[in-house]
Amino acid sequence: MPSQDHEAVLRVALPLPLPRCFDYLPPAHAHADAMLLGCRVRVPFGNRELVGVVDAVGAPAADAPDLKRAIALLDHEPILHGELLTTLRWAARYYHKPLGEVIATALPSTLRRGDPLPDTCAWGWSLTEAGRTGLASLRQRTATRRFADRIKASAVDEAAVDEDVLDADFDGWRSAARTLHKRGFAERVALPRGSSAGFATSGHALNPAQRIAADAVLAARDRFQPLLLEGVTGSGKTEVYLEAIADCIARGRQALVLVPEIGLTPQTLRRFRAQLGVPVHALHSGLADGERARVWTAMARGEARVLVGTRSAIFTPLPDAGLIVVDEEHDASYKQQDGVRYHARDLALVRGKALAIPVLLGSATPSLESLQHAIGGRYAHLQLRQRAGDAKPPSVRVIDVRKRVLDGGLSQDMLDVIAATLARGEQALVFKNRRGYAPVLICYDCGWNARCKRCDSAMTVHARGGKLICHHCGARQFAPKACPDCASLALLPQGAGTERIEDTLAKHFLDAPLLRVDRETTRHRDALEKHLGTLGDGAGILVGTQMLAKGHDLPNLTLVCVVGVDEGLHSVDFRAPEKLAQLLIQVAGRGGRASKPGTVLLQTHHPEHPLLATLLNGGYPAFAALELAQREAAGFPPYGYLALLRAEAPNDAAVQEFLIEAKEAFVTNATTASIHGPLPAPMPRRAGKARAQLHLSAAQRPALQAALNAWMPQLHALKSARKVRWSLDVDPVDLY
Ligand code: ADP
Ligand code: ZN
Ligand code: ZN
Repeated sequence: MPSQDHEAVLRVALPLPLPRCFDYLPPAHAHADAMLLGCRVRVPFGNRELVGVVDAVGAPAADAPDLKRAIALLDHEPILHGELLTTLRWAARYYHKPLGEVIATALPSTLRRGDPLPDTCAWGWSLTEAGRTGLASLRQRTATRRFADRIKASAVDEAAVDEDVLDADFDGWRSAARTLHKRGFAERVALPRGSSAGFATSGHALNPAQRIAADAVLAARDRFQPLLLEGVTGSGKTEVYLEAIADCIARGRQALVLVPEIGLTPQTLRRFRAQLGVPVHALHSGLADGERARVWTAMARGEARVLVGTRSAIFTPLPDAGLIVVDEEHDASYKQQDGVRYHARDLALVRGKALAIPVLLGSATPSLESLQHAIGGRYAHLQLRQRAGDAKPPSVRVIDVRKRVLDGGLSQDMLDVIAATLARGEQALVFKNRRGYAPVLICYDCGWNARCKRCDSAMTVHARGGKLICHHCGARQFAPKACPDCASLALLPQGAGTERIEDTLAKHFLDAPLLRVDRETTRHRDALEKHLGTLGDGAGILVGTQMLAKGHDLPNLTLVCVVGVDEGLHSVDFRAPEKLAQLLIQVAGRGGRASKPGTVLLQTHHPEHPLLATLLNGGYPAFAALELAQREAAGFPPYGYLALLRAEAPNDAAVQEFLIEAKEAFVTNATTASIHGPLPAPMPRRAGKARAQLHLSAAQRPALQAALNAWMPQLHALKSARKVRWSLDVDPVDLY
């Protein structure tokens, strides 16, 4: 007879990689009843303490061992409940991850650790009396002085400047504020809620195409309706979002706007704030933990109305939900690539359905998944075919570089057009999706090339030829002076990355401001803004990777040069053509956004490649139609459903053993889904680990899910599973 005879137990979801919840007796002085559902508790686990969320309250299992008592109840009311909790449970089932891990992914880190919900009053800064008189004593052109000037400027109407506003438009304001605070010059004050709202400045009057799109969203106000807004770059999609959000606010509802990692710029936030006239909150990885928790909580309490955030913002509570917008819905950053491998766009649709609200997906280059839904009529298909205002579409020219001599990666034709652009006082963007100096170091005598010892890949040449870095595991070393195989001195970097192209451009255009933007020069979102800001309005050149495909508007940018996309034309990943087409269109869209016409130059060794030919002749829609037909023929998404079981271990035999046993466990259970493998991963060795995978596919989503449901418990039980690191990826977006 168990000792805890009549006492109900708490079933707690803990952040552990085990596919179950754990039973505990309620903490002292608490009753195990339904009031505790969705509340956090602190519990003993082994010799640790963990924070979990109560998922159920029930009778102890008949064979229950002696249960431990939870240590403390951390919430007086549930932190997770209603639609959000239901969605998290759904995600746990769909992605086959323990609920505790899904919850840990969804909660801001301070809440995950067990901190109380933060105070959500808004804070702002203003100058003290001493600050107003002492302002002149601060040195000019320091961040501290700029900050003091900034908050003084707003003092006209005696308002303090909201920290959210400072976050958006003042880099590094916190350290400046601290300095001033220490001197007694500035103070932090609580703001009455909503006070920072300015007046909405009205945007552009919508053009007819925008009006139709906006009306379609408004017409779907009170029901679940996915809408795909397909609009070329610069067609005014953002204006449509703003119109729909304004309507949402006017009805007292909340709006959630998801943007890709790189799209959440201070410029975006300023535009939203100016046009909506209510506080617009931001949620992204650059925020301090406390800030994230504050924004999350303000949304949970219904105090915040508009949230613009990156991927994980999809887990924000929306008690008064009215609309979810997913900007650049095709963007790969919406898919989490480790832990709980969720897709934020897909979760947006799940939540939209549960909340009975419209979900607006926008892109110039929609994912083939969304496009197929739109073509099939399941999503409303809204189109903006022309650029808004008087911007014209760019003209595109292909430069065939077969049998041409290139100078540091660039053809003479391209250099000439860049020269002409600079002479007109305009700006050019040179895009190369490869950072570093050159992708490989080769011995011209024996053919040796520098490879990473721990990965199946070449090492990239960096530091103008001085260093070798592996882009996959980070290994770095000095470049050898002589060939390790034949001692020849004829070691030459082959091909060009952004660093080499920068050198070439610097050599040709001595006087032009030149700015390189890639992961080396730009580690931070704000740094990108600042960088682009320094280019100003005069002539200049930007060179960089796909970081340049988005961000800050550059009205004087009229030339976009795409240097060699040839690597992307030969990838094994079935999504590679889609990603390449999207990237090309997005980069091309950077040029000619204002009244000046834009030109795109595409330098390639494969001018006849069908992907390029289709894109050039028919644009993205033609490409997408062709690609969808091929996916259908092959049974690939969106015409089939995939899951990937990845495994890695130092020793290849362990990986193979696990995958073979996993495959055997699968076959006995499923008939409507099929399994292939073990297949080598596209990179079979990475950071010293052997990697392989199983591919699962089914024609229908439920068939795949049913197979996975039967399979997962067996995988967890396999002994061979303990010798490898394995993970399941449902709806993978890449095969790596
Ligand atoms: P997208 O989000 O589709 O890239 P934006 O909403 O950023 O496009 O609009 C592109 C540019 O066109 C912006 O400078 C914007 O101010 C302008 N614009 C948008 N809608 C209109 C309109 N109806 N009339 C005039 N200009 C507009
Ligand atoms: Zn050699
Ligand atoms: Zn490596």
